[in-house]
Amino acid sequence: MENQTSNFIKDIMIKDLESGKHDKIVTRFPPEPNGYLHIGHAKSIIINFGLADEFGGKTNLRFDDTNPLKEDIEFVNSIKEDVKWLGFEWDDLFFASNYFEEMYNRAILLIKKGLAYVDDLSADEIREYRGTLTEPGKDSPFRNRSIEENLELFEQMRAGKFANGEKVLRAKIDMASPNINLRDPVIYRIAHATHHNTGDKWCIYPMYAFAHPLEDAIEGVTHSICTVEFEDQRPLYNWIVEQCEMVSQPQQIEFGRLNITNTVMSKRKLKQLVEESFVDGWDDPRMPTISGMRRRGYTPEAIRAFVRETGVSKGSGAVDSQMLEHFVREDLKLKVPRTMGVINPLKVVITNYPEGQIELLDAEINPENPEMGTRKIPFSREIYIEQDDFMEEPPKKYFRLFPGNEVRLKNAYFIKCEEVIKDADGNVVELRCTYDPETKSGTGFTGRKVKGTIHWVEAAHAVPAEFHLYEPLILDETEDQSDEGKTFLDNVNPHSLEVFQGFVEPNMKESRPHDKFQFFRHGYFNVDPKHTTVDKLVFNRIVSLKSSFKL
Ligand code: ATP
Ligand code: MG
Ligand code: MG
Repeated sequence: MENQTSNFIKDIMIKDLESGKHDKIVTRFPPEPNGYLHIGHAKSIIINFGLADEFGGKTNLRFDDTNPLKEDIEFVNSIKEDVKWLGFEWDDLFFASNYFEEMYNRAILLIKKGLAYVDDLSADEIREYRGTLTEPGKDSPFRNRSIEENLELFEQMRAGKFANGEKVLRAKIDMASPNINLRDPVIYRIAHATHHNTGDKWCIYPMYAFAHPLEDAIEGVTHSICTVEFEDQRPLYNWIVEQCEMVSQPQQIEFGRLNITNTVMSKRKLKQLVEESFVDGWDDPRMPTISGMRRRGYTPEAIRAFVRETGVSKGSGAVDSQMLEHFVREDLKLKVPRTMGVINPLKVVITNYPEGQIELLDAEINPENPEMGTRKIPFSREIYIEQDDFMEEPPKKYFRLFPGNEVRLKNAYFIKCEEVIKDADGNVVELRCTYDPETKSGTGFTGRKVKGTIHWVEAAHAVPAEFHLYEPLILDETEDQSDEGKTFLDNVNPHSLEVFQGFVEPNMKESRPHDKFQFFRHGYFNVDPKHTTVDKLVFNRIVSLKSSFKL
């Protein structure tokens, strides 16, 4: 795998190896299985797996599954698939829920040390008592329960004697700390719910802030890499590792999250788009999920190159979504065959071409990569061209077809528009053209020049195809700009998907899901794995050809 350019996390690792603090780097990627992975997670995956790999260390895939209400095995499976698809292999696969007994015992240890207590305040009261940035918090009236009473109550919590929300376990740290995270954070709550892994064994569950440092320490993680929102939690992280007397002492390091313009990147919001049917599932090609991008036609190589380019830093400005497109074009340019597809067809009859005759023309598969060879494409009296490539009354500088004008058919001949056929409503339904046999592509004809070259597909052998063209799903610049009672859903683009019925070259008939092509003038497309059937190919446009984006 590609190495990362130097960054502050890599520097810390180098220092720790040189000083002998660690002799091996151990990282983890710790998703909560409450949704599908998105491109932001790809960044975390690449940093964690990539760095450990560079130093010959190891990386665990750990499911941070401590909240039974939102987690599901469907998400566990999709996450595993996505990590592998991105090109990474985990050393060990762990579930935080397998540590519940150990976490419980560490909580008992805190109680025994006088560092945790059972609180009867409600969630609202706890929030109220916690104070603000400018005001210290107030002690709960239950803060000074005896160790014996706390042990007994906590055991009863585990035994299911109380309802959800009736009691919690809190760490006893400092209600006046300037860091609100240290004002006696809740570390266990009651949730009578079935867990995807532990079933009904537990009705109390550790909170993230308590569970995460323990998980890291149990696994011997050396560098616990997370995003900057957790910076204020670091003192609590260290307090838990220390007071729970963990042998291994992981170091939490924060980096800036990846944000991309016109892209929502929070599982909660993505879930809402799925559940409220704005999209056709987590793998909808408009989604910034790994599975959506895969279905759209993005490659792991393009995603990795993009993420590497965004770098590793503490800041989290939004990256231009065009940069992502740039990297997929770069990756596919020399790899995929070029071909012709008509998205919005208009029939053309070439009146001077012999009826019943068919000829096979030669065309290069990829002019930028001649090693890919050539292909044969049929040509005959009837073809389809793009509706957009004809105008009855063209504006100035329109060089495609119009009455009396001549254009080049890519890989074939010049044709000239002689007659326009309309239906009863005045819509153009067919063109009658003539061709000039002298102008055959590849013969070196120089007699005269035409300004436009258009693509086409021979009608009798054309393979019907459906084309899905996309625009950004979200119109706003970044997800954080929605305010004043508006939600990001107000920025959903109603025109993010357009569907067309067209045709492709016959040699594409046997295309399989995930085959990728560059269609002349239209851009890069992927054969959709979900909607393609034996009778109908469906192509998702990955990205158009042109971009103003410059690195
Ligand atoms: P979300 O806010 O989208 O739900 P999360 O952080 O809650 O994401 P987790 O499943 O907990 O999702 O994430 C697993 C790992 O991926 C965490 O270490 C998290 O910090 C990291 N991660 C999530 N989103 C991003 C992002 N946009 N950029 C970089 N890393 C991210
Ligand atoms: Mg999380
Ligand atoms: Mg989240």
